[in-house]
Amino acid sequence: MSVDLHQMLPPYRIKVVEPIPFLSPQERRAALAEAGYNPFHLRADQITIDLLSDSGTGATSAAQEAAAALGDESYAGARSWFRFRDEVHDLTGYPHILPVHQGRAGERVLFTGLLKPGQLCLSNTHFDTTHANVKLAGAEPRDLPCPAAFDLDSPDPFKGNIDLDALTRTLTGPERDRVGLVLMTITNNGLGAQPVSMANLTAVRDLCRRHEVPFFLDAARFAENAWLVGQREPGYQDWTPRQIATHAFGLADGCVVSLKKDGLSAIGGLIGLRDDDLHARCEANLIATEGFSTYGGLAGHDLERLAQGLREVVEPGYLRARAASTARLARLINEAGVDTVQPAGIHALYLNAGRLLPHLSPQEFPGHALGCQLYLDGGIRCAELGSLYLGGMDDQHRLVTPAPFELVRLAIPRRVYTDTHLEYVAAVLADIAKEPGRVSGYRVVSSPPLLRHFKVRLAPIPAAGSTD
Ligand SMILES: *Cc1c(COP(=O)(O)O)cnc(C)c1O
Repeated sequence: MSVDLHQMLPPYRIKVVEPIPFLSPQERRAALAEAGYNPFHLRADQITIDLLSDSGTGATSAAQEAAAALGDESYAGARSWFRFRDEVHDLTGYPHILPVHQGRAGERVLFTGLLKPGQLCLSNTHFDTTHANVKLAGAEPRDLPCPAAFDLDSPDPFKGNIDLDALTRTLTGPERDRVGLVLMTITNNGLGAQPVSMANLTAVRDLCRRHEVPFFLDAARFAENAWLVGQREPGYQDWTPRQIATHAFGLADGCVVSLKKDGLSAIGGLIGLRDDDLHARCEANLIATEGFSTYGGLAGHDLERLAQGLREVVEPGYLRARAASTARLARLINEAGVDTVQPAGIHALYLNAGRLLPHLSPQEFPGHALGCQLYLDGGIRCAELGSLYLGGMDDQHRLVTPAPFELVRLAIPRRVYTDTHLEYVAAVLADIAKEPGRVSGYRVVSSPPLLRHFKVRLAPIPAAGSTD
């Protein structure tokens, strides 16, 4: 059989399964109303296909579970820690590795040790918890995405890049002494799961060296970024994803990583560092707040799953199958007349709800409306990334500054859903796209002052001519 035919297949079969719930349309309507029309308040047993997040939601392998059985739960110096440390050191090259229970804990520990109040943190795009932790350290997060990121339809292969001109201007302009850190998020989750090129990372490294500013990676999806570099960037066709990832880590002074994504595990994170003094500061903070520096809030069995997960996630067969599965879903969705942010990334697809539902104004939250409709029609849960999440509101919870785009994120958990499940998602969307006018808008009923999307409650706005 030819290699090409082998390449169609995910390089694994399913060993353990769990049932998924099927509710009637009436049950789904009642569940969503009970949840205040906020998918974060739905219970998992009310959801048929859960595309809310790719974080900690992946399936583990038999090899990971076998390794977990060897977990050494010694308080300090556990065998599991050394296996984890050696694996991460091998992959990243950083001399100092600190384990943390998840990415945001790493952000807090790193920024507390690295950033001073009043400093600037520059990024292609800060993830939401990263943004919050930069601010908690007293510094100011600032996003400098490349201009191509704002053309949702362009096929530009590296729309996750930072704007190098804007970065240069900031590093040489009146604010140059305030810049405390440049942090590159790979892939750029905040902007459509778009990858960052090695050329962009190399240019950032050169600028940071010249201006003596630390350069770190927020590398939650380092393997997916490496795969897309191998596919899209000239000069990397003969590199393995692992070689590309190692090269990317090598460009930076350190990293902070949520291992709930490309760690292929439910929990975990790490900080990688070169600087001895920074390591000493971070380690002291880690011991005080997360745990001793050989476990950092993780159990021995978690460290074992992670060490094995980090080996599996860079396997070309795995990455190829995952990328192909997401690309196939994008194709089915696009054929059904629903636009997605182009080109398709790997961990998520971003639906252009603003374009699909032109009868809804941003004040009626078209992204949220589409997300609710996917649940009502198909039991599918996803996340709005539009004006409900990013827009500015007044005291009456009315939208005053809309987000630039009204998007819905379909996040794809790793190794969890088959192409048949994803075909179902496309079919439910295709039905909505046949008659988009029947999707009604929403208004905010109550909203907390902070982290609105988690706790907001909404109500449907009755469509014109509606009888209920
Ligand atoms: C998930 C994520 C984080 C935060 O990590 P947690 O493990 O959820 O705390 C930070 N940055 C990026 C890019 C992420 O995707």
